[in-house]
Amino acid sequence: MSDYPYDLIIGLETHVQLQTKTKLFCRCSAKFGADPNTQTCPVCIGLPGSLPVMNREAFRLALRTAIALNCEIPEFTKWDRKNYYYPDLPKGYQISQYDLPMSQNGWLDIHDPKGEFEPKRIGIIRAHLEEDAGKSLHDEAHGKSDTRIDLNRTGTPLLEIVSQPDMRSPKEARAYLTELKLLLTYLEVSDCNMQEGSLRVDANVNLHIHTPEGKIATPIVEIKNLNSFRFIERALAYEAQRQYKLWQETKQHIKSPGAFKQTRGWDDAKGMTLTQREKEDSADYRYFPDPDLAPVITPKAETEKVRSSLCELPAAIRQRLEGTYGVTAYDSDVIVIQGRPLVDYFEEVAKTAGDGKKAANWVTQEVLRVLNEQGGDIQSFRLRPPALAELVKLVVAGDIEITRAKEVFNDMVANNRTAPQSMQALGIQKVDLSELEAICKKLVAANPKIVADVKSGKVQAIGSLLGQAKKRNPNANPNDVRRICLELIEKM
Ligand code: ZN
Ligand code: MN
Repeated sequence: MSDYPYDLIIGLETHVQLQTKTKLFCRCSAKFGADPNTQTCPVCIGLPGSLPVMNREAFRLALRTAIALNCEIPEFTKWDRKNYYYPDLPKGYQISQYDLPMSQNGWLDIHDPKGEFEPKRIGIIRAHLEEDAGKSLHDEAHGKSDTRIDLNRTGTPLLEIVSQPDMRSPKEARAYLTELKLLLTYLEVSDCNMQEGSLRVDANVNLHIHTPEGKIATPIVEIKNLNSFRFIERALAYEAQRQYKLWQETKQHIKSPGAFKQTRGWDDAKGMTLTQREKEDSADYRYFPDPDLAPVITPKAETEKVRSSLCELPAAIRQRLEGTYGVTAYDSDVIVIQGRPLVDYFEEVAKTAGDGKKAANWVTQEVLRVLNEQGGDIQSFRLRPPALAELVKLVVAGDIEITRAKEVFNDMVANNRTAPQSMQALGIQKVDLSELEAICKKLVAANPKIVADVKSGKVQAIGSLLGQAKKRNPNANPNDVRRICLELIEKM
């Protein structure tokens, strides 16, 4: 149920820069950060007579992604020219895919680890390959209104992934992008660096307003170039309210959805979307097949070969961690979102220690805490899985209680010691049962009031005995003390 008198309808178009060494149709480097206009050639700046040749690696990465997004892969796909004029597009057209994209009709499942919305399947309309345009550099720092063009980016491969308008809140949109980014990272098809523009998002958003006459759709607005997840959430929330207010004031709505489309940009400093232009119809682009490029044929067998060579994907890993190791949904999410190396680390600890839940606690709390504090990644983390597993085993066996085990953990990390070495250094040893029983007997005898309280049903009164036991021997395990004292009191 929506809190508002409308449904918020969100579809996302994501442009992903594929991680290739060279551009989509020429041999120029696609590396980010070079001096302006040092990575160009006649093909990518569109000099007459130059001929493009498709980069096979880019197509392979796109294929891998589309298959992981559960898309159908047609055997035949072709290239089209999308014609428009812009200073950063010297050819006057972008090579893209129009009516026969390389993939379509897929889906991506999203979920919320905090449980604020139900898990849900977001449809993927299509994913197609296209080349990027150049970049306009607006040099306002020098007080001049000076714009320069850098064509290094021109012709780098982009995969445009178009979702169905299946998202109903900014949170769902964020979850979709988080899951998509995670998938792309596991597939190793993009570095997904949003600051460098490797992942750029446009959001299509409108409202279905509930009225006595039924639901009424507001015109669709496209918010361009949202380059952080936080911007996207804020922009969508703002746009929903803006459209609702505008509708209340003007009762402007549309009879046929998609008839009007407006482009707006997000201004994060102002906290609002600003109008940019009325959107071109696709007819304005005068799409036509690129006569310089051959269509691409992907036999079914090749698609199946790529499918069977895919790595294990995030959703499947989460399921496996929960099913095989009994990890909670929340913890499996925390582990998987860190990437494959942490998954491998966790699994080794869990297998060796023989307790997946406890292993997950140690990895998600202590290991990640230290990594956050000290920086660095799990591959170079000092405490290797067998050493952590040894500590977890001691905890599981009840040989050391949890707060002391955390001291041991910190010592192991700081001084590169094994669990037994750290325990010895910290003077931690398991108290043997007879000594523990002797302590408990003395405590019970010395505290008649607490004994009476416990006997009358106030079991929590036992707590003060645990503290006293610790004073007599800091290694006394509170769980054992509690159990023994309760047994003694029961017999009294
Ligand atoms: Zn080039
Ligand atoms: Mn595009």
